[in-house]
Amino acid sequence: MAIYNLGSINADLTYRVPHLPAPGETLGARSMTRGLGGKGANMSVAAARAGARVVHLGAVGRDGGWMIDRMLEYGVDTRRIAVLDDPSGHAVIAVEDAGENLILLFAGANRCIAPESIAEALEGAGPEDLFVCQNETNAQRDGAELASARGLRVAYAAAPFDAEAVTAVLPLLDLLVLNEVEAQQLQAATGRTPETLPVRDVVVTLGAKGCRWINTDTGTTRDFAALKVTPVDTTGAGDTFTGYLLAGLDRGLPMPTALEMAQRAAALMVTRYGTADVIPDLKEVTEHRF
Ligand code: AMP
Repeated sequence: MAIYNLGSINADLTYRVPHLPAPGETLGARSMTRGLGGKGANMSVAAARAGARVVHLGAVGRDGGWMIDRMLEYGVDTRRIAVLDDPSGHAVIAVEDAGENLILLFAGANRCIAPESIAEALEGAGPEDLFVCQNETNAQRDGAELASARGLRVAYAAAPFDAEAVTAVLPLLDLLVLNEVEAQQLQAATGRTPETLPVRDVVVTLGAKGCRWINTDTGTTRDFAALKVTPVDTTGAGDTFTGYLLAGLDRGLPMPTALEMAQRAAALMVTRYGTADVIPDLKEVTEHRF
């Protein structure tokens, strides 16, 4: 039982500035922090913190060793992360005092993953394992096809939304996780509501409203209310939700129980600043009183 996650790894470089720079302006930043981020890395860390065995399939540049170290520290199997000559994926984030931000995202090594490396990594995997990917890498379709051919259950978190990428893998999926906006975008692109997708389980996250689970086998829809918290930073909540959900399913939990754990973990996440570095572990998630 393992989760194979084909996912992005990004350095989040956050600069505090008095105001957002104007074109041509050179601006001194007051402080700088370097954190581990990227939807893929967040998801791997969340699933590992939830107790799952997680093998991350991805790539960083020669400047990315510290990110591999940090993922390892959080319990992720990092042996399938390639170190390439391309620069690591990164986000340059300027945050002004008034709270407004500006983000420059560079995919770098995240989009240079060799499909052969995915095939190699999946050699020992089988029907008891799960495969998951998102949209910040290349080779999602190769990964989903290879995993499906080996009998793994295939999950996909359609973020950031890319109509072409999602429609290419749709027939291979056992589980699709979307947020409310992505569900609307998918409907606009395919004409299908979540209820009519050719995927057995579809989960739509609804922010502070919780989430909806659609099982197309039985034709049932079930809503789960979110936990009541005071949000301060919602970044990483969706990735934490999906990581915990997959870890629960990997452990053999029924979908409703796995969704409840995912919602508890995501609710805790929105009460914290930061991403991968502040994802709660299973003990905290289980014991926290909301
Ligand atoms: P989202 O990506 O915004 O749909 O959020 C993913 C999940 O995080 C939701 O399904 C909730 O379980 C949780 N979540 C997000 N925002 C909140 C909030 N304000 N309060 C409680 N839980 C939240």
